[in-house]
Amino acid sequence: MSLKEIFASRALRMKASEIRELLKLLDQPGILSFAGGIPDPSLFPAEAFADAFGQALTNGQQGQSLQYSVSEGYLPLKQWIVERMGRLGITCTPDNILITSGSQQALDYLGKLFLSPGDTALVTAPTYLGALAAFNAYEPRYDQLTLEGNRTAQSYRDGAESSGSAVKFAYLSADFANPTGQTVTESVRARLLDLAEELDCAVIEDGAYQDLRYDGTPVSPILAMELGRKGSIEDCRTIYCGSFSKTLSPGLRVGWAVAAKPVISQMVLIKQAADLHSATVNQMAVNTVARQIFDAHVEKVRAAYKARRDAMLAALQRHMPPGVHWTRPEGGMFVWLTLPAGVSGAELLARSLETVKVAFVPGQAFFADGGGSNTLRLSFSVLAEAEIEEGIARLGQLLSEAPAQTRQQAAQMV
Ligand code: PMP
Repeated sequence: MSLKEIFASRALRMKASEIRELLKLLDQPGILSFAGGIPDPSLFPAEAFADAFGQALTNGQQGQSLQYSVSEGYLPLKQWIVERMGRLGITCTPDNILITSGSQQALDYLGKLFLSPGDTALVTAPTYLGALAAFNAYEPRYDQLTLEGNRTAQSYRDGAESSGSAVKFAYLSADFANPTGQTVTESVRARLLDLAEELDCAVIEDGAYQDLRYDGTPVSPILAMELGRKGSIEDCRTIYCGSFSKTLSPGLRVGWAVAAKPVISQMVLIKQAADLHSATVNQMAVNTVARQIFDAHVEKVRAAYKARRDAMLAALQRHMPPGVHWTRPEGGMFVWLTLPAGVSGAELLARSLETVKVAFVPGQAFFADGGGSNTLRLSFSVLAEAEIEEGIARLGQLLSEAPAQTRQQAAQMV
């Protein structure tokens, strides 16, 4: 007997994504990769962290930094986050905050907190792959969160009830989403809050890219809008997930969740059971570095990514053949391409790797229910502007050939 046969049913929902496996092979020398979607390591504030870790590990601080600590998170860091959240219009106290090991852990905990098997989670199509991976373990049913307002609360409710349960939350990234780069407008955020009221469900707002705005007008976080309506975070149904990964360092695994106290208290219990607390020394170092350089550092990161975003948009304009459409993100790390109908992103990737040595992520991976086969995600965060130009030129060349090939293949099939 293989032990696989006695794995819990949830394990069946945790599949290694073929795309993820493929991506491991992509970031090799000689390949221009738009696949990654990770911060540029040359922007990490390494010296500031070297000093901060040095401090945390000497001068009597080591007794605290190397010790167990509270599940809620390191208080000075929570206080710094309270101040930052306040600037976004999210008035809260340290008791409204849980420090997590990256915002990914908050997504997992929220899945654990809300989803019994068969419960409905509303997700956009496409959506962040890691959110689907986190929620999948709790065996939900997914329904598509449409931002065009063409679905009524009743239609969501009917769908959920048909599988014997209720809609528990709507998950979305409102600013510079992964994978599309798009920002949800203020009126759509308001409509989403109305929908959540009607469904009596939570809203999970993924703010992983919040600080990476390059132009345009900032839109209030959904939690700030709800607070504006209700007056107190204790009456809010929105849970905001933040992260230091895109601004300071993803490797330290420090993120946070902000919500009404009963939600945070329950998440604290989940954290106690899961890993007791996030690494104390990392939280202390992040606190020191954030207090010293956060704003100046984020300015630097924004300037670098803005130049790359601009380079990518200009290159797309220059090199893409007619029929290819793309988003124009105001921030984040991604541009989302829609290819002519019938051109497959996955097939294009295979051909691209073989011939022009350019990598990207086929879009289908980001859909809970398949779909999106003619889409792809390009990340502009890691390559230099000249490489972006070169990579997009090669991809444009390949795509100029794609329709002809597709026609040829179609002819062969009949
Ligand atoms: N949300 C989104 C939309 C992301 O793209 C990512 C990372 N790629 C995360 C959450 C998780 O990031 P972390 O756990 O590093 O905070």
